[in-house]
Amino acid sequence: MIVRFPFLTKQSVRVIGVLVIFSVAWMSKPATALQLVKKPSPKKQSSQPKNFILIIGDGTGLAQWSALSAHYQYRAFAADSTHNLDIIQRDNVSVFSSFPVMGLSQTFSANNYITDSGAGGTALSSGQKTNNYAIGVNEKGEAIPSLATIAKNQNMATGIVVTCELTHATPAAFYAHQPKRSMMGDIAKDLYELNTIDVAIGGGYPYLKTFPFEQHNLIVDEINSKNYPTQLNNIDNGLSESGSMQRTILCYNKDTFPPKAHEGRAGYLERASVAAMRELKKQPNGYFLMIEGSQVDWACHENDSAYLMAEIIDLDNTIKAVLAEAKASGDETLIVVTADHETGGLTLPGWDKKNGCAKLSWSTHQHTGIPVPVFAYGPGSQSFTGVYQNVDVFKKIQTLLPKK
Ligand SMILES: [Zn+2]
Repeated sequence: MIVRFPFLTKQSVRVIGVLVIFSVAWMSKPATALQLVKKPSPKKQSSQPKNFILIIGDGTGLAQWSALSAHYQYRAFAADSTHNLDIIQRDNVSVFSSFPVMGLSQTFSANNYITDSGAGGTALSSGQKTNNYAIGVNEKGEAIPSLATIAKNQNMATGIVVTCELTHATPAAFYAHQPKRSMMGDIAKDLYELNTIDVAIGGGYPYLKTFPFEQHNLIVDEINSKNYPTQLNNIDNGLSESGSMQRTILCYNKDTFPPKAHEGRAGYLERASVAAMRELKKQPNGYFLMIEGSQVDWACHENDSAYLMAEIIDLDNTIKAVLAEAKASGDETLIVVTADHETGGLTLPGWDKKNGCAKLSWSTHQHTGIPVPVFAYGPGSQSFTGVYQNVDVFKKIQTLLPKK
C-alpha cells in the first residue's frame, strides 16, 4: 500500500531529514560536564505495589462525587471575591484531582441487572459475578477466595475498616462464604474461625460478642460514641504500640452499627483507616486493606441529601488522609477507589441558590445499573483505565499481588 503525504514537498522532506540527522547526532553525543552535574531524573516508580488499598464508597456514583465537587466549588466561589471560575473549578474537585487514572466499572450481578451489595462486594472481592445477596460464593454456592485470602496466603497483612457492621454485606464479602447476606451470625463465625482479617474496625458488636476473639490474640474493644473525642484517641492508641502487627478487632460501640457522620461519627473513618494502615505496615510483606464508606448507600436509599453530603465529605476526607499517609510511607501503595453500585439514581439538574449547593434529584430508593467510576493512584494504577466489569477490578488487583 502506498501512503501519500500531500503536505510533504521535496523541500520539507529535506528539512525534516536535516532535523532528524541533527537530533540523532545530538542524542548520541558524549555527555558533557554540564549534563553530568544535571539533577538526576526522579526515581522511576516501580509498577509493583507493596500495599493494596481498595476504598469502596457503597452506592457512590459519578453524581454523588459531582455533588461533592459542587459543594467545594461553591465554598471556594463564596470565599474568592474575584470569582475566578477557572481557579475555582481547577482547585476544588474532590477525589477527581488526586487520582491520575480513571475507569468505569459495570456492576450488574449474575442474576440481576441491578446488583445488591452482596453480589457487588463479591465481584470486587473475589472476581466472580454471583447471585444477589450471596457472600463470597459463586452461582453454585461454592466458596471463592477473596483478595484478602489471596493476600494472606502470600504472608501479607489484611484489614477492613467500615462505617457499618463488620458483618455487613460489603466487608463480609472479603472474609465470609455464605449463601445469604442476612446470615450475620454465620458471617461473624467466619470472621472468627477463618481468621482471614488481621485488623477489623467497624460496627457489629452484637454479632461479634458471642465469639471469644480474645483467646485468639484479638482485642474486642469498644469505641463509645458518647465519649467520642477521647475514645477516638483509642483508635490510634488501641492498635499496638509494639513493633509487630497486632491482630485487632475494634467495635465502634455496642450498637449494631456506628451513627451517621453528621450525628457524631465524622472523622472516625479517616482516623481508623490511617490507624489500620500504620498497624498493617508493621508486617514486612505488605498488606491488603479494604475501607468502606458504607453509609453513602444508606443516605441514598433514604434520598436524604444532607445525610449524603455528610457521608461523602467524610469519605472524601478519608481518601485524602489515606493518600497522604501512603505518600508519606514511600508511595509504594496502590489505592483504588470505586463503588459496588450507584444508589438512588441521583442527578444534578441545577443549582440550589438558597442553600448554595447543587440541586439533588433522586429517581429511586433502590440501586441502579449505571456504571460507577474507578479512581486509581500509585504503582500499578495505569491498568485501571477503560471500561470494564466490576470483576475486573479484582482481576487487575490480583495480577499485581505478589506470587509465591
Ligand atoms: Zn444498598
